[in-house]
Amino acid sequence: MVKIIKPSFEILTPINGDEILKLIEIAGRTCYKSNDLITPDSAKNFVSKIAQRGHESVIEHYNITVRFICNRGFTHELVRHRLAAYSQESTRYCNYTKDKFGSEITVIKPYELNEGTTEFEIWKNAMENAEKSYMEMIANGSKPENARGVLPIDIKTEIVITTNLREWKHIFKLRTSPAAHPSMRELMIPLMKEFQNKIPVIFDNINQE
Ligand SMILES: Cc1cc2nc3c(=O)[nH]c(=O)nc-3n(C[C@H](O)[C@H](O)[C@H](O)COP(=O)(O)OP(=O)(O)OC[C@H]3O[C@@H](n4cnc5c(N)ncnc54)[C@H](O)[C@@H]3O)c2cc1C
Repeated sequence: MVKIIKPSFEILTPINGDEILKLIEIAGRTCYKSNDLITPDSAKNFVSKIAQRGHESVIEHYNITVRFICNRGFTHELVRHRLAAYSQESTRYCNYTKDKFGSEITVIKPYELNEGTTEFEIWKNAMENAEKSYMEMIANGSKPENARGVLPIDIKTEIVITTNLREWKHIFKLRTSPAAHPSMRELMIPLMKEFQNKIPVIFDNINQE
């Protein structure tokens, strides 16, 4: 049986927005030798001014790590962002016939396919056929790294990405815009909102600029 799940994300870095702004202020004020102007409330205003001037290298001083549970189409697009570290579930080392995977493949429900429609049924059949072929290949002695060729783009995968705030901003700009893939927007829009809620100033006005 193919298992169908929704995609998700988890922010792995504990986030304290005020502390992040303070760190960026300490780093950024080095440029002006104005660290004497730091007060308990000065960071927000300083980072805001830095952002307005486009002095964005300063926000590279802080990294955030996020785990995505998503399909391989999503990760294929994500890893095009070069200024990040990635660790991804391997279809070479994971054997989905094993008990720990439930002896089944798990796939991600495409955002725009609705259960009960003909389109959804055709997609589900394709997922089941892919699983059948994968299981048969392994049963006939294939290694996972060869059987993986029959797995679909919608196969569930996990990826952990670590990158700095400047690159996150760039990723959100590109991946929440209406031009981005619906499955990309499905995760990136709520993730961006969480960043915006937790970290003042830095992620304001993305795609409204
Ligand atoms: C809507 C959409 C559709 C897309 N369609 C396709 C497609 O059909 N085919 C395809 O192949 N790709 C496609 N892409 C991927 C796209 O071309 C980029 O590879 C991807 O978005 C990564 O973005 P990036 O290169 O700006 O940034 P990153 O790799 O995230 O880098 C961040 C920034 O650093 C700078 N930078 C990084 N590396 C260099 C460098 N070597 N030289 C100079 N500056 C650098 C740039 O300013 C860059 O914007 C698409 C992307 C989007 C958002």
